[in-house]
Amino acid sequence: MLPFKLVYSDDYYLPIGSHVFPAEKYKCIYDRLLASGVAAPSDFVSPHPATDEDVLLVHTPQYVHKLKTGTLTAMEELELEVPYSPELVRAFWLAAGGSALAADHALNDGVGISIGGGFHHAFPGHGEGFCVINDVAVAIRCMQRDDKIRTAMTFDCDVHQGNGTATIFSGTRASSDQQSSGWGSVLNPNHPARRRSAHDEDVFTISLHQLNNYPAFKPPSSLDLNLPDGIGDADYLACVGDALSLGLNKLKPDLICYLAGADPYCEDQLGGLSLTIEGLKERDAIVYRTAKAAGIPVMVTLAGGYAMKLEDTITIHCNTVVAAKEVFGGKD
Ligand SMILES: [Zn+2]
Repeated sequence: MLPFKLVYSDDYYLPIGSHVFPAEKYKCIYDRLLASGVAAPSDFVSPHPATDEDVLLVHTPQYVHKLKTGTLTAMEELELEVPYSPELVRAFWLAAGGSALAADHALNDGVGISIGGGFHHAFPGHGEGFCVINDVAVAIRCMQRDDKIRTAMTFDCDVHQGNGTATIFSGTRASSDQQSSGWGSVLNPNHPARRRSAHDEDVFTISLHQLNNYPAFKPPSSLDLNLPDGIGDADYLACVGDALSLGLNKLKPDLICYLAGADPYCEDQLGGLSLTIEGLKERDAIVYRTAKAAGIPVMVTLAGGYAMKLEDTITIHCNTVVAAKEVFGGKD
């Protein structure tokens, strides 16, 4: 039995048909975790969908209304890059509820993992890049509303920049705090890492992503690491450690929300970095070890993963659970 909970539902499945986003991955991960003995049925908890009230903590009433009534414009639906349906909306409400539940369990157990979520391209008033609503942002705002946390840090390791998350939480910071940092310039002299100061009840957003990739416009996170094409395990892992210590120097949050994207993988169809499966697992372990050493609970969502072979995406996501088991302990 694991010393932490895995949040999962068969209804995490996204009804998007044949698509580069492998919507069946959630069920495959669940099945593999059980079949391999990494997890037992009792390690899983089922989420409830977020309420509309929860979603409205992040998203505009107009956008929520359009989603609930199927009245997105053609352009808005195109921007989602997944076909709209009421079932799709229900799956995203469930993903948000799942992330909130994982956060709740993280406060108890040190870590809580949702076998879903990480839809970081959703903005307050629109969705894009396969992301309808921003489940992580909704979870954070719910936890703050319910007085379970005051501050949070998002640590986004999807290969694509967390543009929605950056935008959602940018309003809680004074823009005059923005400063350029010499740090990061080693990797990209033209695009130095950017960071801002944190405030009470703030959310500090960190994104490690490939610079030359979607989204073309990257609204500033609290700290952005613009990684060059083709970066491999050693350089990437050094960045992970540096970004975490830089971030934790700025703010010691009540909760870290880790987006464990599988798409920095060298064989990803939508990514241009060169991490190995082992490197990605070590990345997860670094995040867990750092959070554990700092005494900060970490909530985990999966985010993207588009490996040429679906099996590889499943392995990378399963390893996110295996690494947690190794760091946080667990009896077989
Ligand atoms: Zn991605």
